[in-house]
Amino acid sequence: MAHVKLHIPGPVEVSEQTFKAFCSPMIGHRGQGYKDLVAKIQPQLQTLLGTKQLVYLSTSSAWGVMEGALRNLTQKKVLNCMKGAFSDKWFDVAKRCGKEAEALQVPWGSPIRAEAIDARLATGQFDSLTLIHNETSTGTMSPVAEIAALKAKYPDVMFIVDAVSSMTALPLSFDALGIDVLLAGTQKAFALPPGLTVFTCSPAALAKAATAKDRGYYFDFVEFEKNAKENMTPSTPSISHTYALASKLDEFFAEGLTARYARHTQTNQLIRDWAAKHGFTLFPEAGFESITLNCVNNGAKPGGRIVDAAKLQKLVKEQGFLIDGGYGKIKGTTFRISNMGDETPASMAPLIAALDGAMAKL
Ligand SMILES: *Cc1c(COP(=O)(O)O)cnc(C)c1O
Repeated sequence: MAHVKLHIPGPVEVSEQTFKAFCSPMIGHRGQGYKDLVAKIQPQLQTLLGTKQLVYLSTSSAWGVMEGALRNLTQKKVLNCMKGAFSDKWFDVAKRCGKEAEALQVPWGSPIRAEAIDARLATGQFDSLTLIHNETSTGTMSPVAEIAALKAKYPDVMFIVDAVSSMTALPLSFDALGIDVLLAGTQKAFALPPGLTVFTCSPAALAKAATAKDRGYYFDFVEFEKNAKENMTPSTPSISHTYALASKLDEFFAEGLTARYARHTQTNQLIRDWAAKHGFTLFPEAGFESITLNCVNNGAKPGGRIVDAAKLQKLVKEQGFLIDGGYGKIKGTTFRISNMGDETPASMAPLIAALDGAMAKL
């Protein structure tokens, strides 16, 4: 069967070169070969995340570490900043972990602002908060620097930040932000196959985790730190992912991070232009649109054009491209198109032609 190229917001298209690295022969994860592999990529990961802390590799999708962060760092109560399907789910996961949790909900498509968080943290009830930088379900980015600046006022609150669909697409400096956990699954902007999560923790987070009695084993941050010092992981990692990540990081630095960030902005603009050309508006509040995907308004909010999203998706798929028909409660009334990973203006051109072709039939 012919491959349908992925322009859904994760997983995204994986290159031949990455798959080749992924298929490297197995080695032992306690042997020198694996340690050398991690030792090689550790400084690259630290540069990418803007940190002097060790960067950990978790063989799990992002939710493993998202849940793990709560188990390691929430002892009193967590403030879940909610603005879409993934961030809303984190509140549900906190309760499933038996944690005290409070929802700070804004309408889908709106960003979370520091002022609202400040008002809740001022109550003194919270020892942790969860924030999704780029809410993939709505294509909305919250101003992470503005929010992270609150850390100075609330040093004892653990700031847990999900950058699953933004890390590698724009600058995110963990140490400069001063937050406590930064994580990303690799099937989004890293353009790796699903199954690996990259994350890092502040010294304060590690100290706090060490006091959590029921933090478990598989996602124990203290174990991650201890093993990372030896260029290892607590349990057997996906060695294939480690090879693929090493290959990908070499690509990132060959291109240059600044060029990579600019490329994402550029490819994202192509879809914004396409949407405007056909009379659509975007779903996110103006000024907070994602640069790794576009969530196109298709009736969820007043204004702009409305088409049969399922039919649009079907027509584009017939041309060899998979776009997303909307997520959760905005399925159909929005649709989403990803530009994250390896996409360039040249690689986006056939997709845009297919989208234009489909619009002519709607
Ligand atoms: C995709 C995504 C997740 C969930 O990742 P899984 O790989 O399914 O665990 C979490 N947060 C954001 C922002 C995402 O885009």
